[in-house]
Amino acid sequence: MGKVVILGSAHAVPNENQENTHLFVQAGNRNILIDCASNPFQVLPKNGIPPNCITDIIITHFHPDHVSGLPLLLMDLWLIGRREPLAIYANAHAVSRIEAMMELFDWQKWPNFYPIAFNEIPEKEMHLAIADSDVEVYTSPVQHLIPTIGLRIEFFPQYRVMTYSCDTEPCQAVVRLAKDADVLLHEAAGPLPGHSSAAQAAQIAAEACAEKLMYIHYPAGEELETEMIADGKKFYNAKIELAKDMQSITF
Ligand SMILES: [Zn+2]
Repeated sequence: MGKVVILGSAHAVPNENQENTHLFVQAGNRNILIDCASNPFQVLPKNGIPPNCITDIIITHFHPDHVSGLPLLLMDLWLIGRREPLAIYANAHAVSRIEAMMELFDWQKWPNFYPIAFNEIPEKEMHLAIADSDVEVYTSPVQHLIPTIGLRIEFFPQYRVMTYSCDTEPCQAVVRLAKDADVLLHEAAGPLPGHSSAAQAAQIAAEACAEKLMYIHYPAGEELETEMIADGKKFYNAKIELAKDMQSITF
């Protein structure tokens, strides 16, 4: 059995009720953080997740709304005495920038800092990044303003699938990632370069034959729910809803 917690659902500009988009995935012994926004030591416990349980961090791309909480999380885990290694997965573009960002904080000089293992995600479709008996995570490059990965997360033994588009224009790579998925979590920031509208996300969900579409990374604080769902229904007949902060989805 697996669980996904929506830690945030807002696009790049959050408000007091909606954090920037990031997720937590739990399956067996794996506790995976997908992107790292806000202040993880406040957001994770608010969702019932002890920060030190994180085993893996996937950074989808190096934009501030997806990576700004990372230095604070890495430092605070060190300050509470973490010893266990932590794995970080990201493409080459993001890995080099994460290392450069952490070097600005002199992280190499932090005494007794726990081991960080970088796993560089190649620029290829359906790369198996995490392989475990309870969960597998596949990555593919998507169409954003900088190199970005989308994710397909498969939960075992029951074989339930969640796909997360990450920030992207409508693209066939997401259709393939979301093929027959139980849930497609698709961004709906709007019809902007590098992003998708609610209607475009619904077209991708229909093409992929996903069971359910959930919008995420949508404008915070605007009363768009009815309009977004109506826009989506024109293209996709199955279930559509908006992902909400602190929502938990069981697989
Ligand atoms: Zn972005």
